[in-house]
Amino acid sequence: MTALPDIATVGVVGGSLAGLFHAVALTELGLDVDVWERATGRPDDRGAGIVLQPGVAWFLNEFTGVDPERVSVPVTHRQFFTKDGNSRVTPMRQRMISWGTIYKALRDTLPAERYHDGQPVTALTPTPAGATIHVDGAAQPVDLAIIADGSASRFRALVAPDGAPRYAGYVAYRGVIDEADLPQELATSLGDRFSFYDGDRTQFLCYFIPGDFGTTITGHCRMNWVWYVPADAPELKRITTDRNGSAHGLSLPPGLLAPEVHAGLLARARSTLPEPLRQLVEHTGDPFLQAILDGRVTRMRSGRMLLTGDAAFVVRPHTAASTEKAAADAITLFHALRQAPSADAALQAWEDLRLAAGTAIHSQGVSLGHRLGLSDLETAAG
Ligand SMILES: Cc1cc2nc3c(=O)[nH]c(=O)nc-3n(C[C@H](O)[C@H](O)[C@H](O)COP(=O)(O)OP(=O)(O)OC[C@H]3O[C@@H](n4cnc5c(N)ncnc54)[C@H](O)[C@@H]3O)c2cc1C
Repeated sequence: MTALPDIATVGVVGGSLAGLFHAVALTELGLDVDVWERATGRPDDRGAGIVLQPGVAWFLNEFTGVDPERVSVPVTHRQFFTKDGNSRVTPMRQRMISWGTIYKALRDTLPAERYHDGQPVTALTPTPAGATIHVDGAAQPVDLAIIADGSASRFRALVAPDGAPRYAGYVAYRGVIDEADLPQELATSLGDRFSFYDGDRTQFLCYFIPGDFGTTITGHCRMNWVWYVPADAPELKRITTDRNGSAHGLSLPPGLLAPEVHAGLLARARSTLPEPLRQLVEHTGDPFLQAILDGRVTRMRSGRMLLTGDAAFVVRPHTAASTEKAAADAITLFHALRQAPSADAALQAWEDLRLAAGTAIHSQGVSLGHRLGLSDLETAAG
């Protein structure tokens, strides 16, 4: 498959999902693509859950050869708990996948020699015909640079100087538990369901995701839960300071929650959550957390540099659309480069479409957060 003659080489800054979606799609288009990722090695497969949306499913099917149905767990109903532990269910079919399963499918598709891990990009400079990527003292000229370095993007300002994300006033505590470690009765009551509890300025949700190596065999899956809890700035600082006293800022990985923060989480679960969901928190050895951010840009392109994934829009997780948005950035670029009469026309069409989509998802996320009472208008505006 051939693309435009004046784009032959592509450099991708950041090798997480957004970077990988672009690298795989553009390689499929016949372009010469390299990815530079500052972290070393593959993250393990204890990745948290992700609602499988149509764009991600299409991408896996079309470009990776991985059948999304085989690596995702179906749910047939939504289940809404009340504080006393009773629940009502309503039919709603969805499929749940994990971050690690998507990552593995993408990494396994991209030729290994094109993924340069442990190699941070130190500078990115625009050139008349593309950009230069600086890595490890070397300068790599490319015809197109994909900036996919995440919400804390170092290079966002090259394209959108006003787009840095802001804290939305609440955090998501998260947990992943092996299905085998759950009491049978609890696993059964949550199986086949996307379960929710909406309380006073709080929401808890949970669903099963694939287990090791993407397995979806009953008994070998994992339970994934997310609990949104308000936290002002001092509280955010307290709960993201790890058990060794090191401050992490906007997230804390599994295994590092300070004992007193973990004890506080368990106490909050006892006083706030319906019984089945309280049990989930109690069965979680290593809860982790991330701050909820709002990030919106008004540009996604400067010359031959494109801003993608969380480096562009950081949307609230209530939309279940962050990963879908990253996949859609890549799918849209794939089609634009294939169809447009010139590189400039393709990149302009891509920016117009993705700016409109990102702006809409961002607004939807903010309004869902308000509906849950999870942030005040002033905090979340912008
Ligand atoms: C803990 C967690 C849970 C999530 N849960 C969900 C969910 O349930 N549903 C959902 O849809 N989405 C979820 N997301 C968001 C989703 O994973 C992202 O939106 C999606 O992966 C796109 O992210 P990204 O690739 O743009 O950025 P990131 O995943 O943040 O990746 C950025 C990458 O760039 C690399 N990088 C940064 N600077 C440099 C540099 N200078 N040089 C080289 N590499 C660099 C980083 O190491 C990182 O690998 C979650 C994210 C996190 C962190």
